[in-house]
Amino acid sequence: MVMSSIECITSPSRIVTPETFTDEELMRLDGKTALITGSTSGIGLGIARSLARRGANIVLNGFGDVEGSIEQIAALGVKVGYHGADMSKKDDIAQLIDYVQSEFGGTDILVNNAGIQHVARIKDFPDDEWDRVIAINMSAAFHTTKLALPGMIEKDWGRIINIASAHGLVASAGKAAYVTAKHGVVGLTKTTALDEDVVRTGVTVNAICPGWVLTPLVQKQIDDLAERQGISLDQARQDLLGEKQPSLQFVTTEQLGGLAVFLCSSSGDNMRGSIISMDGGWTAQ
Ligand code: NAD
Repeated sequence: MVMSSIECITSPSRIVTPETFTDEELMRLDGKTALITGSTSGIGLGIARSLARRGANIVLNGFGDVEGSIEQIAALGVKVGYHGADMSKKDDIAQLIDYVQSEFGGTDILVNNAGIQHVARIKDFPDDEWDRVIAINMSAAFHTTKLALPGMIEKDWGRIINIASAHGLVASAGKAAYVTAKHGVVGLTKTTALDEDVVRTGVTVNAICPGWVLTPLVQKQIDDLAERQGISLDQARQDLLGEKQPSLQFVTTEQLGGLAVFLCSSSGDNMRGSIISMDGGWTAQ
């Protein structure tokens, strides 16, 4: 399914200088196409909004409220596409990248964001949940990267932003597959940034490590905590933050979107293999 509204404007050159561009223009992404996996909800949709506000055309992916997500982005006046690839399936991922190539002329900005969670002790951790979390949260980022990179290298401009997690840097009990996958994404980010086909080109690869963000993925954990402890949802929310996040504030999807915009701007040209925390102080402890 493809929806388009206003076509993009001009494509800025990769080499820009403060003399020729205003601060606002340095952050513009007109003419670029951003593919954000898992962008029908939460962080992915927030990043899609932020990139669209800067003029990037957007390809959405994910399940759930597809129509509502498309409408939100189309309202920002950019070209919007959607592909329903299941990110646990390698063939679907290949079709997704082909779709972006044929409908948008290629992926300029790739945000590997799709992710799921499963919480259980190791002895009880279901094998199929392990496989699903590793496939969606980690292996999908390898497959999209491998397929999208050649086009970026050819254009000598590209951005890969991997949405890892505070759990890419530190662990929590009960999250074996998630913590493993997110640590893997951090490793993939550094390795790809340094790849000899990449490191001296205009393609940058970085990871963002959010702390708690109040999305459906986290709301489920709040619901489970409230039920397990017999406490109110409000108390569960406070307890969840209090345990890990010293700011006692959720990180917002708009704040994460702002960081993604920065990484896509020319100011981010030499951010290479950076693992950037935005976690209310979680991993500073
Ligand atoms: P969310 O549940 O709100 O959104 C997840 C998105 O992924 C949805 O669009 C969903 O449809 C999509 N998705 C799930 N399985 C998919 C599949 N097989 N194929 C394609 N799409 C699929 O979650 P979120 O909190 O926005 O999480 C987004 C990313 O941010 C995840 O990688 C998550 O690990 C990471 N993250 C979240 C938090 C947080 O506190 N919410 C913190 C750190 C990192």
